[in-house]
Amino acid sequence: MILEDVNLDGQPVRMTLSGGKIAAIDPSPGPASRTILPLPVEPHVHLDKAGTISRCRPEAPGLFGAIDAMARDKANWTAEDLRSRIEAGMQEAWQAGCRAIRSHIDWDGPAAPLAWDVASVVAQDWASRMPLIRASLSAIDVVGDPDLGPAIAARVARDGQVLGAFIYRHPDLANRIPFVFDLAEKHGLMLDFHVDEGLEVEATGLDLIIAEATRRGMGDRVLCGHACSLSIRPDAARAIDAMARAGVALTVMPTTNLYLQDMAPGRTPRLRGLAPAQELRAAGVPVLFGTDNVRDPFYPMGVHDPLESLRLAALSAHLAPGSWVDAITTTPARALGLADRPVAVGEVADFLVLPAPDVLAALARPGVPRMVIRGGVPQP
Ligand SMILES: [Zn+2]
Repeated sequence: MILEDVNLDGQPVRMTLSGGKIAAIDPSPGPASRTILPLPVEPHVHLDKAGTISRCRPEAPGLFGAIDAMARDKANWTAEDLRSRIEAGMQEAWQAGCRAIRSHIDWDGPAAPLAWDVASVVAQDWASRMPLIRASLSAIDVVGDPDLGPAIAARVARDGQVLGAFIYRHPDLANRIPFVFDLAEKHGLMLDFHVDEGLEVEATGLDLIIAEATRRGMGDRVLCGHACSLSIRPDAARAIDAMARAGVALTVMPTTNLYLQDMAPGRTPRLRGLAPAQELRAAGVPVLFGTDNVRDPFYPMGVHDPLESLRLAALSAHLAPGSWVDAITTTPARALGLADRPVAVGEVADFLVLPAPDVLAALARPGVPRMVIRGGVPQP
């Protein structure tokens, strides 16, 4: 297959594919009519929750109303229900062109929940196509408890997955966060935190994570998500600088932040809740964009598609999307411990072809059209 006049990293080129690989990339006179992007990596979703909104409506606004609604819905989480919803989410991400996906799975006690087992079976089915990395998601009260956390970490380690925690304004974080790091160090685990997902200046769990990662030299194994309070903290610049020095990465999730933050009945939100992506990246923090919740009480709309996350990030954080493609491709790949897969001669021919001359034009309309090429073959 030959792709004429495509935009690769801003240059018009002619790409030749052969035997499932990229055989040649040559300059072409242009102008480019289509744009090539690496396959995206989705760093943060909740496949156990996705697709429940039709039966599960929050009774109170904001994050904690959604958490309560989701807890009530768990009576419906049979193996069959979980399997069909997790599979649907995987199909959606696959159609979007993802090369890998990390899903958090709610984990409320010491033993693995049914959703973990079901997601593990789905992951096996998909292993050769699109790896499904699982991160346990427990309240810091649970995974940071010396009576409960060790069993979670041992099981996560046995399955080769990621240890996670939900952290928001807890009085004992100074002990519980180091304990979670102890577990990760003991088992050689990567960590993924939901942290400071709210708009109170006292929400500073991020600082303790950064301090612990710095002290132990573990920054490259730690991914944080949200850090909404950074958008209103007067000392945000200091925290951002420490985060950059620690090498801790941050996933920003525009859908859930715009939807849940500063939410009150009958009142238009004034605050948008997004961590300051531009300042974070300028300081050297690896910034990722994640889709987070899809059609569940945390966000009742959406689709598992990193290009839609980039599109919304461009709008909500005032970004030039062509300069932020790395936030859905190479940066999440590194944060998740995946090998780089550049669009280059000799590499497997896996990439997206967007029917527009550049990224901005490609993202102009919702439902971003694309052709997904995997192993040199267009995906049906
Ligand atoms: Zn999340």
